[in-house]
Amino acid sequence: MGFKLCTIASGSSGNCVYIGSPKVNLLVDAGISGKRIQNGLEIINVNPKNIDGILITHEHIDHIKGAGILSRRFDIPLIANKNTWEAIDEMERGIGKINPNNRIVIEKEKDLIFKDLIIYSYSIPHDAADPVGYTFICQNKKISIATDLGHINSHIKNNIRESNLILLEANHDIDMLKTGSYPYYLKRRILGKNGHLCNEMAGKVLVDVFHKDLKAVILGHLSKENNYPDLAYMSVRNELISSGIEVDDKIELTVASRDEISKIFEI
Ligand SMILES: [Zn+2]
Ligand SMILES: [Zn+2]
Repeated sequence: MGFKLCTIASGSSGNCVYIGSPKVNLLVDAGISGKRIQNGLEIINVNPKNIDGILITHEHIDHIKGAGILSRRFDIPLIANKNTWEAIDEMERGIGKINPNNRIVIEKEKDLIFKDLIIYSYSIPHDAADPVGYTFICQNKKISIATDLGHINSHIKNNIRESNLILLEANHDIDMLKTGSYPYYLKRRILGKNGHLCNEMAGKVLVDVFHKDLKAVILGHLSKENNYPDLAYMSVRNELISSGIEVDDKIELTVASRDEISKIFEI
């Protein structure tokens, strides 16, 4: 049993990622219905009762929609930083009542050692209370999750460096967004410093953090309106190839489906 990641859903309409080490089962976000998450876990043979915790990146609904339901149904701890908890509590349609024992507050930028896993959360620029990305280290292997990125800064790059597997946002194609049907204020939000990451920037980040042991990259959190899986894939692939990185030989590059479970990536 190795160190695994599987996307149950990834996109602007809902996010949920499974992370498994030999001793720990986690979810990062639960932004689709509890039922869909249960179905996804069933496909990969993980009993929801054995999920040790749900790590929340931020309080937007596409990341927390099913969190309360799952926590109540299977007695699963929800894990988030203080500001994110406060933001969730203030929401009109939040996640419902959570058993105080399952309400775990963690500090970001600090190692959290849980059995055979080191969990670390780092700040990201996004229009939420205190949004974070996560990294996981198990047996000297590293998995990074970096989505909902308004822009890229050195803090993000430093945190996702030396990963063996990265789930990275490739939200939109800038031209599709600009010429598309979204209202002006939404276009501004997405393009803004605290919005979402475009395909081209995703490619540039990967060029920057590439190293010989980066085995797999999953592009995720795609916009339904302003991107296509093939376009995200080709844009990122082109960035990598034009920097001399041979995609198929060196890196397994894939795009996470918005609503279908991915294969299990194991490193
Ligand atoms: Zn968000
Ligand atoms: Zn999101």
